[in-house]
Amino acid sequence: MIADLDTLDSLPAREVSAGLAEVIKYGPIADEAFLGWIETNLDALRALDKSALAYAVRRSCEIKAAVVGQDEREQGLRAILNFGHTFGHAIEAGLGYGAWLHGEAVGCGMVMAADLSARLGLIDAAYAQRLARLIERAGLPVRGPALGAARYLELMRLDKKAEGGEIRFVVIESPGRAGVRPASDDLVAQVIAAHTA
Ligand SMILES: [Zn+2]
Repeated sequence: MIADLDTLDSLPAREVSAGLAEVIKYGPIADEAFLGWIETNLDALRALDKSALAYAVRRSCEIKAAVVGQDEREQGLRAILNFGHTFGHAIEAGLGYGAWLHGEAVGCGMVMAADLSARLGLIDAAYAQRLARLIERAGLPVRGPALGAARYLELMRLDKKAEGGEIRFVVIESPGRAGVRPASDDLVAQVIAAHTA
């Protein structure tokens, strides 16, 4: 998380976009109002407007703290902070770490996870598309590398969140609320086919 705002002026645009992925994440998982605020202020954020960045960082930290605090009552809730990361880690591992920035992989991973949420019937396709548009406007990739669905699934099973071979996906349960669910390989393969180059 970006903490020292004064060091940001020299940050390359690609790094700024990657950092924004982890800010955008907090909207769909926990705060619809924040998602709307990001949509309105995205250009200011990309231009490194200090007051916009300060608010984005503060709100992200508040939401993270609230989720972690609530995790003590709802065991495992903090896993929702990994929204986009299951698909994202597969992209990073599949391409070799460093080919894409972590935030770029998470951005694309959020597009895939939102689409999976829609295909599971949890949210409207329009909401998933709204998120994809925002992620694209943030300068992040919205199409993953064409590794093939089988390779994505293999990499996701190797990731630490797969328990007993079952991949647990962070999904949007409803706008501004997330949860963790399994999904069939077939459904995940459809998502990957729809969002890879
Ligand atoms: Zn991350």
